[in-house]
Amino acid sequence: MHEMALAEGILDIALKTAEENEAKRVARVKLLVGEMAGVECESLRFCFAAVTKGTAAEGAELEIERVPLIGRCPLCGKEQQVERYSFLCPSCRSGALEIISGRELRVESLEVD
Ligand SMILES: [Zn+2]
Repeated sequence: MHEMALAEGILDIALKTAEENEAKRVARVKLLVGEMAGVECESLRFCFAAVTKGTAAEGAELEIERVPLIGRCPLCGKEQQVERYSFLCPSCRSGALEIISGRELRVESLEVD
């Protein structure tokens, strides 16, 4: 399961950070998840709760911030939010938008105690 592998990756980062800071536990993890990252947030939450059991990150709050899908038009240079997966530039109607954000998945910040 895709989300389970992601949850394990997040846990690794969280535990490593806690260790580096000589913290006893991980309190909070903030994630940035692009609209097009292909991640089911509810499923990820469930997996995160499962993999953190019995670790220093057990009970950590998982905050997920969605990043909108933004494309830039190579013809007119406009940056705009991609609506309903329509990649034709709504401004000049001739360029195909190139994705500049919305595919990311990363740990934005961590709080450890
Ligand atoms: Zn355009």
